Amino acid sequence: NERMLSPENLPFESEEKQLRPTRLSQYIGQHKVKEELAIYIKAALNRQEALDHVLLFGPPGLGKTTMAMVVANEMGVQIRTTSGPAIERPGDLVALLNELEPGDVLFIDEIHRLPRVVEEMLYSAMEDFYVDIMVGQGPTAHPVHFQLPPFTLVGATTRAGMLSAPLRDRFGIVLHMEYYDVRDLQEIVLRSADIFNTDILEDGALEIARRSRGTPRIANRLLRRVRDVAQVENNGVVDSDTADRALAILRVDHEGLDYVDQKILRTMIELYGGGPVGLSTLSVNISEETETVEDMYEPYLIQKGFIQRTPRGRVATPQAYEHLGYYYPQK
Ligand code: ADP
Repeated sequence: NERMLSPENLPFESEEKQLRPTRLSQYIGQHKVKEELAIYIKAALNRQEALDHVLLFGPPGLGKTTMAMVVANEMGVQIRTTSGPAIERPGDLVALLNELEPGDVLFIDEIHRLPRVVEEMLYSAMEDFYVDIMVGQGPTAHPVHFQLPPFTLVGATTRAGMLSAPLRDRFGIVLHMEYYDVRDLQEIVLRSADIFNTDILEDGALEIARRSRGTPRIANRLLRRVRDVAQVENNGVVDSDTADRALAILRVDHEGLDYVDQKILRTMIELYGGGPVGLSTLSVNISEETETVEDMYEPYLIQKGFIQRTPRGRVATPQAYEHLGYYYPQK
């Protein structure tokens, strides 16, 4: 039948795809988000309506795309995925909307990067399921009203502050994804190892979990590398020693900080006396985009208590000094 042949079920499906849980019950962690969604999904299914629009906030790799797919699955509808920067003109958006069946999910990743004109067109699409498009040019130009089926927009963004108020206000369901705790990450690592057919001990999974910056994508990536070392050095069995050796090779330290995290802290301490230093100055120094530092690195360093945000810039904390083995000057 059709479902058996759909790409999700082919035996050669990519590893990445296999790793994604497809149901809420398989989705590990994010308990608050799941609890809320389960209620809204049940209610929408009962009313036989499209689910209200959902906005997912959170750093990269926490499972926003995965959650959008889970939502579509639970609702029993199709999902189309795209991203803010990929929708360049209003026509691109109309083309996407035109393909939706009633109740379908449209997933827009990095929704804070939608061009203004596209964003404005989205307002009526979200609120009343129509768009007005201008047809023709000059004096013959006229708007054409285009009715859409009811659909669910799932938007994902790494930054709460970057979304315009009118767009934010049109999402009925707003959910914040948090970094995963170590237990949940350990469960994710064990599940992924099972999918990879990798022998793993509980303590091996725990070691990887501890050093994954609270992020499933990183946990899965580290597991792949640890698996390689285990294969060469330990008959393929991942235990905590093998994990530790592999992670040392990858320069992931015991707090889960990688090379770039460490470079950020060292730069702050060595070049700027611990700060305050502006984000853009810092980014230039470590040759990373400001946006990358702000979205990917800083939130975890702040959560770990290594960096503090102050009105005058970023400051390295005594914990950062201690962690990297610097003497903390009393200020
Ligand atoms: P985002 O869209 O937030 O950047 P993704 O949804 O692409 O993150 O997830 C990144 C990776 O982590 C995927 O390979 C996915 O399978 C895995 N992952 C994310 N959340 C979970 C989870 N709760 N349980 C198991 N694996 C997860």
